[in-house]
Formats: sequence, structure tokens, C-alpha cells
Amino acid sequence: MGQLRWDKEEAKILLEQAREYSFLYLDQLEEKDAFPNSEAIQTLKCFYEEFPETYNDPSEILRDLHLYGSPATVSSQTGKYYGYVNGGTLAIGIAARWLSDVWDQNAAIYEMSPIAAVLEEVCEKWLTQLLGLPSGTAAGFVSGSSIATLCGLSAGRNQLLKRMNWDIAEKGMFGAPKVRVIVGGEAHGSVFKALRILGFGNKDIEIAPTDDQGRIIPSSLPTLSKNCLIVIQAGNVNTGAFDPIHEICQLAASEGAWVHVDGAFGLWAAASEEKKQLTSGIELADSLTLDAHKTLNAPYDSGIIICKDRKAILNAMQSTGSYLLDSQQRDGMHYTPEMSRRARAVELWAVLKHLGRKGVEDLIEQQCRLAIIVAEGLQSVGFQILNEVVFNQVLVKCNTPENTSLALRYIQQSGECWCSGSRWKGEPVIRISLCSFTVTSTAVERLVQIFDKAYQLAKIQQ
Ligand SMILES: *Cc1c(COP(=O)(O)O)cnc(C)c1O
Repeated sequence: MGQLRWDKEEAKILLEQAREYSFLYLDQLEEKDAFPNSEAIQTLKCFYEEFPETYNDPSEILRDLHLYGSPATVSSQTGKYYGYVNGGTLAIGIAARWLSDVWDQNAAIYEMSPIAAVLEEVCEKWLTQLLGLPSGTAAGFVSGSSIATLCGLSAGRNQLLKRMNWDIAEKGMFGAPKVRVIVGGEAHGSVFKALRILGFGNKDIEIAPTDDQGRIIPSSLPTLSKNCLIVIQAGNVNTGAFDPIHEICQLAASEGAWVHVDGAFGLWAAASEEKKQLTSGIELADSLTLDAHKTLNAPYDSGIIICKDRKAILNAMQSTGSYLLDSQQRDGMHYTPEMSRRARAVELWAVLKHLGRKGVEDLIEQQCRLAIIVAEGLQSVGFQILNEVVFNQVLVKCNTPENTSLALRYIQQSGECWCSGSRWKGEPVIRISLCSFTVTSTAVERLVQIFDKAYQLAKIQQ
């Protein structure tokens, strides 16, 4: 212990130990609560210790993670978890990631990792085909949709300014011609965050009115012009609803405006025969955001920025350095804000290769079908269904806001399943997100029983 040296045999022993703990975790997952119980949370106190003065034994460190860390995890890898829009992870994704973690690749440029660069190129092409986007579409591999949206809006802003003869790289944002930003009233918080980072304040943002499902109403869109950056969404986090993408893209195209689609979890609908009409028109959009760690059930963190005009994303993200020589290969850093990055295309490639077109379609359609079963089941035990269940989200409430909050608390404390709360039209609601391949028809039957019990308990307590 304590030597700074690479000992292959010691490394293997540690990896064996990690493997053993991982297997134990998987074996205990079924009995584990959906959310850590209070004892597991209490135990987390043990991590708040002073920074150690000297070396600690790696094997003991892993043991601590196993003993005190594992119980304080949420069980997203079981059919008990319906929170946020958090998917599970397919086994091939975990396994490919284990292997690539040992490879320790930096995906910044081809010369740092030829394998990472090649798999990025393959994933770019596969995703383009899978989603039905124009060939030659560019993709950058980032941590998640928040960063992907930042990249897309940055490319759009710069491109619109360029068309107004303003080179932002040269002249900056201050004193630039006006770029109008139009965002749906139900846009995700990450869109506003990205806009703030890019120099747009709330007063620069025009809000497009939405309907009862949170969809932009095209006839109520502000008048478009060639300096508009329009952000629409494929999949609202509450209702799962899709903006009318085709109609908005056509309106935008006639003015020369830039359309960015936040399709974090919903854009995957394009890969399903049953659901792809929801994404009709995405081929007309300029840039799109997609998460592989949600609907596709790839490991974290895996977001993708997709941009129809390769030059536009390269112009926004390209960086230079005396030691970065011109390359004829794919240098992934020029598509993303980061330089050093983990080789996340490795597990994305593995998941896509494993599933194929058929598997991706099955995965999406399973989530959507179960969402309908959940909605029917919850309605039959008294809940009010607040959304048209078009994708994998179900939004419900009880007869009164108080009962909704009580029922949610019971559900979250039950340990048997976990859903997150939200507010919709000013009222507390419960969101059920079907985003994991581990959720089966048996799991959702169980979910309905727990909700039934929660509804009854909430009524009694009132
Ligand atoms: C999850 C989500 C985001 C944010 O994505 P991250 O991967 O968490 O950064 C953005 N938009 C929508 C619609 C989402 O569901």
C-alpha cells in the first residue's frame, strides 16, 4: 500500500473485488428499496471525515463504497423506479464501459484515441440513419442534453449572426445585431440555462403560448423573422407531448430562422414505426438534442448534439492550439465544448450494435405501451390522468392537491416504487416516467397496487 506504481496484479485484484461487489449489488437489488431507506441515508454521515493525511488501502476504500455507498443508491436498475426521466442501463452498456474504463482513453482527438474517434464516427452515422436525418448530419458526444442544447443554440446563434454579417468569433456578442429567441412556454430548464450562458437574458426571450399538453400552438407563434432562434421540444418532461415540429420547421424555413429541437428523451420516437409521426419534420430542424442515457438505456453520461450543417457546429465549437496539428481524422473535441472527454461512444456503440433497429424500436414501444397500461390502471383506482399518454410519461393527481401530496409521500416512502412529483397548471401532481427496460408488465401491475393503497391512505388521512 502507498506506492505510486502500476502493479498489474494488484489492479486485477481490485477489479475482482469491484466485480464481486457489483454482483452482490445485482443479487440484492430485488430486495432493496426503490429509494434508500433512512438508515442508509443516516449512514452516509461516515463519508464526512477529514481529508486523510496519507495513503489508505484501496481494498478498504472499495469495501466502504460497497458497505455504505451501495445502500444509499436509488434502484434505477429495477422495475421499481419511475423517477424523473431516468432510464436503466443495458448489461452490454455496463460491460462495454467497464472495458473502456480500463482502456482509459481520452476522446479529445483521433491521435489520443483512434478507437474512440472511429466509434464516434460510426455512432454519428448510425444515429443519423436510425432517426431518419439527412446524410452528412454531424453529431457531438457530450455529457447530456444540457450541454447538447448549449452547443446547438451556440451554433444557431453564431450562424444567424453570420448571416447578418457579424462574425461572433471576431466581434463578440456586445454590440451584435439582435438575435430573437423564441421558446415554448413549457421549455425545459436546461434551455434557459443554455441561453443565459450564451448571453441571452429573460427579456431577450419571447415565450410561445402552449396548449393544455404543453405543446406550442403554431398559430400563436410570434411573427418569425430571419434572425430568430426557435427552441421547440420533442417530449415534454411532464406530459411527454411533442411540439408540432413539422409545422414550426416549415414556418421557420420560409423565414430562414434556426430551429433547435430539445429531444432529450422523446427524439427516440423517430426510431419507432408506431411513434415516429410524433417527430415528423425533425429532418428539417437545424440542430437537435438527444440523450442516450434516458430512453435508450445506455450508461451515464451520454448526450448527443446533432447538427444538420456540420460547418455550423464546427464553427461554434472548434478550438486550436499549437500542439494540435491539423488532422484529416475525426477529432471529437471540435464538436463539443470539452477537450478531454471520456470515450462515451464506446458504450453507446455497444448498446446500438446490441439492439439494432429492431431492439431500439422494441425498447421504445415497450415503454410507451406500458405507459398506457399504467394510465388505465391508475384511472381505475381513482387517479385523474392529466395528460394524453402519447409517449412514456404519465401525469396524475388525486381528487384534491392535499391528497396528491399525501399519496406521493406514501409512494416515495413505501420503498416499493419511486416516482417524482411535479407541478402542472399550478397544482401538485405525480409523474410516472417509464424509461427503463427493466420495467415490465408485472412491475406496472405492482405499481398500480401501490398507487391504489396510497390513494386510499391519503383519503383516510384527510
Ligand atoms: C433530461 C432533459 C434535459 C436535460 O438533460 P441532461 O442529460 O440531464 O443534461 C433537457 N431536456 C429534456 C426534455 C429532458 O428530459
